[in-house]
Amino acid sequence: MEIAIFGGGVAGLTAAIHLLDKGYSVRLYEKRSVLGGKVSVWKDSDGDSIESGLHVVFGGYKELQFILKHIGAEDAVLWKDLALVYAEKEGKQTSFEKQKGLPSPLAELIGGLKTNVITWRDKLSLIRGLLPLLLFGDEKYFRSQDHMTYSEWHARHGITENALQRLWRPISLALNFIEPNVISARPMITIFNYFGRNYEDARFGFFKANPNDSMIEPMRQYILKKGGIIENNARLKAFELNADDTVQAAVLADGRRIEADAYISALPVHSFKKLIPKAWLKHDYFKNLFHFVGSPVANCQLWFDKKITDTDNLMFSHGTTFATFADVSITCKEDYQAGQGTATGGSVLNLVLAPAHHLMELPNDVIVAQVMKELETRFPKVREAKLLKATMVKIPESVYKAVPGVDRFRPDQVSPIANFFLCGDYTYQHYLASMEGAALSGRAVAEKLCMRLAKKQPKELLL
Ligand SMILES: Cc1cc2nc3c(=O)[nH]c(=O)nc-3n(C[C@H](O)[C@H](O)[C@H](O)COP(=O)(O)OP(=O)(O)OC[C@H]3O[C@@H](n4cnc5c(N)ncnc54)[C@H](O)[C@@H]3O)c2cc1C
Repeated sequence: MEIAIFGGGVAGLTAAIHLLDKGYSVRLYEKRSVLGGKVSVWKDSDGDSIESGLHVVFGGYKELQFILKHIGAEDAVLWKDLALVYAEKEGKQTSFEKQKGLPSPLAELIGGLKTNVITWRDKLSLIRGLLPLLLFGDEKYFRSQDHMTYSEWHARHGITENALQRLWRPISLALNFIEPNVISARPMITIFNYFGRNYEDARFGFFKANPNDSMIEPMRQYILKKGGIIENNARLKAFELNADDTVQAAVLADGRRIEADAYISALPVHSFKKLIPKAWLKHDYFKNLFHFVGSPVANCQLWFDKKITDTDNLMFSHGTTFATFADVSITCKEDYQAGQGTATGGSVLNLVLAPAHHLMELPNDVIVAQVMKELETRFPKVREAKLLKATMVKIPESVYKAVPGVDRFRPDQVSPIANFFLCGDYTYQHYLASMEGAALSGRAVAEKLCMRLAKKQPKELLL
């Protein structure tokens, strides 16, 4: 039985892996010349890896870790010490670390009391506001808080404004590239729960080389080895429908008609919205997709001739154009090292710029000048270092904005159209838009498709 998947991000690739494992024939069509979607990485003319965005793996990403192991890439991730590290003015660093060797939530409590990121007043308000969540919060509660922004939830729980700005604003910007007064409370408290309940789940990991070499390429190899077919530069343009609105064929931009037993869109929601056939809009399932709006974000990479930091972890910053960043010459041991492309052994910063709506139209050199000015206040060594190269990737519509009320519109992977399915980080699974969410949606679509086709096989699909 032939399955056509459109979109070669983590969702489409994991769907392909699961379907091949189940014995289906799979063809995957990706519009770009590279695979990986928002995780994609490519080499520029200097031989440097240019990343769509700095990507960090959480210890709690069980599905992603399962897939990595399954495809033989289990050692792809380098785990770092569990700490939220904040780069402060005048080159200072503060951090929030769980106390090792203690059970949760005691470990967070002691770690929180010791942190130098916030004041004692902030700490006491945090304990009062977050302890009930850590002790009693569950998935049902998190979802029930989707009607308000995180700022509202924070204020209602009596936590100080300083704790919001210093501690959680960078986290909100790292998570969804939007401000705490825009993001729904649900994703934020879900993350607190991860951070607060299990040491292993809250660890950050970096891909050993970069997301492509460590994850996407092994996925591609696995798919090819299993007999799957991957076509790059193959853009889905439209669907041709049968009289009952099922898909008769998918039409690519080069005019080819693709016929299959089932079709999966693993496109980002903003791309899929443009391709929804009019006849399908009578279903709320498809109409609801218009509630999703993409977050703009930019990723800036800076190559220096000297090391400007020795921090081997993810870092956050408040009051700067960059919300979260890392020196990938330190965190990713197999890439960005001396002798590889532009790298000379100095720092290679990979910085996520958010919020980024105002950056989309700004010239890159203006943004880089601003970032450099701010970096000097966080890392005084920048003043003595030479900037060798700067690159910028702007994504006007990246992950969907997790604003209040949108969660309930996340679609199931099974659509009302008998031979058409959705997957992607925005589709319904218990995680946020993330690599883990995309991988979960890939597994879900494969399992649900298999069940649906099994029921229909005798008369509709095997004939
Ligand atoms: C800057 C940045 C930093 C991030 N950091 C993290 C992080 O640290 N940790 C984390 O877990 N997540 C992170 N994310 C989120 C994560 O990258 C995404 O949630 C996830 O990769 C989405 O995967 P996906 O397969 O659902 O969609 P996508 O990656 O968007 O894949 C969709 C694919 O469909 C293709 N496509 C589009 N239109 C067509 C068409 N018409 N025909 C054929 N193909 C088409 C696209 O080219 C793309 O390859 C980050 C995202 C960004 C942008």
